[in-house]
Amino acid sequence: MRLSVCRHCRREGIKLFLKGDRCFTDKCAISRRTYAPGQHGQRRKKPSEYGLQLREKQKVKRIYGLRERQFRKIFGEAERSKGITGEMLLVLLERRLDNIVWRMGFARSLKEARKWVKHGHFLVNGKVVTLPSYTVQKEDKIAVHEKTRTINGIIETEEGAPRRGIPAWLKLEKEKMEGLVADFPGREQLTMPIEEQLIVELYSK
Ligand code: SF4
Repeated sequence: MRLSVCRHCRREGIKLFLKGDRCFTDKCAISRRTYAPGQHGQRRKKPSEYGLQLREKQKVKRIYGLRERQFRKIFGEAERSKGITGEMLLVLLERRLDNIVWRMGFARSLKEARKWVKHGHFLVNGKVVTLPSYTVQKEDKIAVHEKTRTINGIIETEEGAPRRGIPAWLKLEKEKMEGLVADFPGREQLTMPIEEQLIVELYSK
């Protein structure tokens, strides 16, 4: 039996947005069941401090679809950046090209965005970039490749994007099928349910 990714959300008790548009509708499983999956889901022990920190990291890895090595790399970069490490971590995660493609509404989920990027459907400042982990800069222009503008999944901008909302730090030009990274997000603009301080504490041990 193929298990639904919704079980990860139920385990965390929050939406991790792993299923695309469905996550923004009342079909979302977390809206209906808030307890963890499995027969013991409703009577679980209170986790330790370390357990909470570890879970927070796992949660972030799930949201952004990262492996441990990739996550460590981004965390290291956040540590070396000027600013608050936890906040820098979240901003770096948001600046990944696959995330930008999803946020702009060119894909229904981050997973799909990653696939489209790998297949060369997106350009950054006029050049094809096939690395989902590519970190965008301010003023970068992200565009759907001219040759692939007819792919159904990509043309869902008008339906999916308004439902989940385009962040203010990104500017979308729907008709041109392109968008601009107008700024980097501030902490108050990052709405994913993440307690980044727990992750910082985990790595400072
Ligand atoms: Fe499933 Fe809701 Fe989680 Fe989306 S947010 S993966 S629909 S439980």
